[in-house]
Amino acid sequence: MPKFFIKTYGCQMNERDSEQVAHSLLERGYERAAHETEADVVLLNTCSVRDMAEQKALGKMGMLSPMARRRPETVFGFLGCMAQARGDSLFGIVPHLDLVVGTQKFHRVADYVDELLEKKRARRMDDLRFSICDTAEEDGSAETIRDHNLKPRQATAFVSIMQGCNMHCTFCIVPRTRGAERSRIIPEIVSEVRELVDRGVKEVTLLGQIVNLYGRHEFASVGGKSPFVQLLEAVHAVEGLERLRFTSPHPIGFRDDLLNALAELPKLAEHVHLPLQSGSDRILRAMHRPYTAQKYRALVDRIRAAREGMAITTDVIVGFPGEEDDDYRRTRDLVEEIQFDNAFVFRYSTRSETPAASMPQISERIKEERNQDLLKVVDASAQRANAGLVGRDLEVLCEGPSKTNARRLMGRTRANKIVVFEGAPELAGRLVDIHIEEASGFSLYGTPVMQPSCPVFA
Ligand code: SF4
Repeated sequence: MPKFFIKTYGCQMNERDSEQVAHSLLERGYERAAHETEADVVLLNTCSVRDMAEQKALGKMGMLSPMARRRPETVFGFLGCMAQARGDSLFGIVPHLDLVVGTQKFHRVADYVDELLEKKRARRMDDLRFSICDTAEEDGSAETIRDHNLKPRQATAFVSIMQGCNMHCTFCIVPRTRGAERSRIIPEIVSEVRELVDRGVKEVTLLGQIVNLYGRHEFASVGGKSPFVQLLEAVHAVEGLERLRFTSPHPIGFRDDLLNALAELPKLAEHVHLPLQSGSDRILRAMHRPYTAQKYRALVDRIRAAREGMAITTDVIVGFPGEEDDDYRRTRDLVEEIQFDNAFVFRYSTRSETPAASMPQISERIKEERNQDLLKVVDASAQRANAGLVGRDLEVLCEGPSKTNARRLMGRTRANKIVVFEGAPELAGRLVDIHIEEASGFSLYGTPVMQPSCPVFA
């Protein structure tokens, strides 16, 4: 059978989409290739959020041109956000490209790959050039991301609950690449989670661009509970599920019902990733982010008060058009004051066809200076937060071998902290208490607490 290779750029939603495409190819009998050079089908699932992500994907595909010349029967495709944004213009940039599939058509990839492989074989005889581009919108596409390829002992899974975003932040290309908000219905999501749990999954992360605004256009609030909180309660009730996460929420959708859910649903993990973007109200307005620094700060206080041990992480953009020293200072002060458990700091990257692209830009040098400066603040608070956990016993869901040292295991605490430890490989997929002995800003290190009843310690 033909072999396929998929490389994913970008966020967890892209990872999830790639998994769905892989599932559909595996179902047809295709095999997964460990490396692109062994593949008959090479697919790059792309990201458009920053220019660097697009350049990486284009560079990678460009580097495959000698392979395309050597093996002309191979199918090369771009999927996802960049494919959606650039469409068939990509054929002009990468001559050996055969396939471009946008964000609402992942479920069509297997059909297109079949067709292209078949035509490529025939092409040897008639030398025709074939290509397929499908970036159309499709009703119901949000429901097509629902199948999983679980590895042995896999204990965590992502579940896509909605697609798209209607917020139109001025720096963001997502509303263009992912379209308008569309949500799946609660029973379908619950049945996907139930199936995952039956297959051994213990922790599920609900995914959406603005996950807490799930269902706001399709479903009604009931008893003061938003559709998202209704969904959380329904998923929480799945027997055997141990932990429930969601990412990423928007501050404006974080209302009392969700704060109550954090306090009342014990399976909800003690971690919220809450994008801040800027600590300057002037810049927040220019970004079209409908909250103030003060409101954000108050929300963080309420989230921390809702549950003990709550970790809060964030995203911050530095160097947004028009960001003055005073705006940056406000961001820096707020980040320092809040003491996030961690943060992704991004230098603003111009995305064409977004409103911010035509605003007055600031120099790359200033962006870089602010980026480095803010990273120091974030690193210090991350170190402080992790250092406070040394000496404690924490529940860790073991995910398997550590990526940096396969002789050790890694897992995550309920607060989403990475923990590296030594233990029997059979711990993969299990909840285990770890005594934390050391901390860096990025990881915790510890030893399993002896539990004689557990067979892997025997
Ligand atoms: S909320 Fe803003 S940043 Fe997030 S996906 Fe929507 S437009 Fe982009």
